[in-house]
Amino acid sequence: MSLRTAFIGLGAMGHSMAGHLADRGMLVAVGNRTFAKALLFSDARSVKAASGFADYANCDVVALCVSADADVLENIDGLADVLAPGAIVIDHSTVAVETAREAARRLAARGIQFLDAPVSGGVEGAKNGKLSIMVGGDDATLERARPVLEAYGARIALMGANGAGQATKAVNQILVAGINEAVCEGLAFAEKLGLDPERLLPTLMAGAASNWFLDKRGATMLRNEFKPGFKCAHMAKDLRIVQAMADAAGIQHPVIDRALADYSELEQNGNADADTSALITLKR
Ligand code: NAP
Repeated sequence: MSLRTAFIGLGAMGHSMAGHLADRGMLVAVGNRTFAKALLFSDARSVKAASGFADYANCDVVALCVSADADVLENIDGLADVLAPGAIVIDHSTVAVETAREAARRLAARGIQFLDAPVSGGVEGAKNGKLSIMVGGDDATLERARPVLEAYGARIALMGANGAGQATKAVNQILVAGINEAVCEGLAFAEKLGLDPERLLPTLMAGAASNWFLDKRGATMLRNEFKPGFKCAHMAKDLRIVQAMADAAGIQHPVIDRALADYSELEQNGNADADTSALITLKR
């Protein structure tokens, strides 16, 4: 029998992810902080727009893709009050390892299972249903939740116990932040040299400098288009988490520090909701 699934957080990522669940006939309700977004979705896809946590009470699985740690825990507390023992909550937001473990503890006290399952692949990966999903939790819970994750995941990897998904995402974000720094610095330099983007971008993409960010955001950033995508404020949030983890681990982290300084500046100069490719404006 199909899992009765709800999805909370209909933003750049969640809207498409919830859409894949609706396509598979698994979605029964959606929720969002700004209720109007949930109503729009529910009108388009004939699912319930949840106006309170009671609307999730009959769900087998509730997936979240909200903004930050406090948003996750607020939803965990609401869901803990209404879900039946044996239900599963999956969190796709990027938050701290400790937040994932705390969410698991609060739900376990009510007999509810939890998977931290942050994602990578951007809004394109969410739209195409081709996300890489990094899971923390136990194997039996993942197997029960797998049909939900398969609706939008191309790779679903169990990384360890609760928190291991978020730990993997922290590693992912160091790589993403460093790649973004290099691409934006490189393309700002190319502009100064007067190189033709029509020839530059495919030439770079054909060689060892090829990467997701250059492919998906290279042309738009050269046209000064910074529609998200992935917001600078979310990247700064991620890097604050990662910086604290790297300090605790005792590694040197100049890549994290440079990138966090840049995204903090972008947050302060009015670009918090711009795509991370707005980083090129600083490199110029
Ligand atoms: P987004 O576009 O800002 O969307 C966040 C959505 O969550 C919004 O619709 C927001 O509602 C809703 N929301 C926030 N707090 C809520 C709460 N307490 N209760 C209910 N709904 C709430 O963000 P996004 O880009 O989809 O990213 C979501 C999460 O995934 C973040 O943790 C981000 O770091 C992570 N992520 C993003 C990407 C990406 O490429 N965009 C990739 C991987 C991971 P409102 O309508 O009220 O704002």
